[in-house]
Amino acid sequence: MPNITVLDQNTINKIAAGEVIERPASVVKELLENAIDAKSTAVTVEIKEGGTSFIRVTDNGCGIPKEEVPLAFLRHSTSKIKSVEDLFTISSLGFRGEALASIAAVSQVELITKTSIGLTGTRFQIEGGEERSLEEIGAPEGTTFIARNLFYNTPARKKFLKTPSTEGAHVAELVEKLALSHPEVSIRFIQNNQNKLHTSGNHNLKDIVYTVFGREIASNLLEVTVNKPQVSIHGYIGKPVIARGNRNYENYFINGRYIKSSIISRAIEEAYRPFMMQHKYPFTMLHFTIESEMLDVNVHPTKMELRFRDGEMVYHMVYQAVSSALAHKELIPEVELEK
Ligand code: ADP
Ligand code: MG
Repeated sequence: MPNITVLDQNTINKIAAGEVIERPASVVKELLENAIDAKSTAVTVEIKEGGTSFIRVTDNGCGIPKEEVPLAFLRHSTSKIKSVEDLFTISSLGFRGEALASIAAVSQVELITKTSIGLTGTRFQIEGGEERSLEEIGAPEGTTFIARNLFYNTPARKKFLKTPSTEGAHVAELVEKLALSHPEVSIRFIQNNQNKLHTSGNHNLKDIVYTVFGREIASNLLEVTVNKPQVSIHGYIGKPVIARGNRNYENYFINGRYIKSSIISRAIEEAYRPFMMQHKYPFTMLHFTIESEMLDVNVHPTKMELRFRDGEMVYHMVYQAVSSALAHKELIPEVELEK
């Protein structure tokens, strides 16, 4: 005979955490996105042992009022949407209200936060989904979030973590992507007490490309700028000489979100086709600003895929933009005219 029961909240959170929190890099992604959504201008990410034992994200954003701190850790609690209609005009990176509940379910969390109007700050501790303490504390404006010992209470999942250096490399890659997607935020990354990345937050995408990818790439870029009523594109594409053997260097961001899109990839690669050898892929770093009505971001929990209302229009725009940047005259092979 079946003996059906409804799972308790803590168990539900642990199971749900499996969907969003896979490894230290997923924790860092959620925390860094929260910091950016909180309108921070400077964020520091610090990890130890690849983030498996220690992750700290410190921001100077809006903070969370004391009475709302425990709420932030409930599943489906968010300040970013109020109703399903808001999903169509979403401009924040988060909106599902799942991250903090998920992270707290599978690690030991300490949060220190203060709003601009709060007289004091708040310190909150929660471990494996169980609240430990909530107290007033002196703190600067903004939020510090520490997650210790990821998966300490789910040994089966902990086993799937790779070595600290592999996990650390995933975190580093993630931080770089977020730094590239938000040139307006100064992002610092510290790994095992060493400074690994520091962007200025001065809006200059090319500077960040230089910091992350080095001089050869930064000195072989072509600028792309397109302004249309519903879509604008700004950024850089690489000259064909810096083509690579895989798609890892094809980056594009929509409304500050790093995404994958087969429509955009096809348009880019089609535009490059006359200039490229087979099995070579271009370097691209393109920022799209697209009216949110034209998008559906609520496709996948990790939000990497995204749907366009009018994919064909996007395809043609990207193809045109990339083609005309590539029509730059120094790229056209010189033709021998004399007989
Ligand atoms: P979501 O980002 O989808 O709203 P989260 O679980 O990541 O869900 O966060 C829950 C809520 O906690 C957010 O909606 C926000 O109000 C608050 N919050 C989380 N991190 C921060 C932060 N760094 N600064 C200010 N508020 C935050
Ligand atoms: Mg979030």
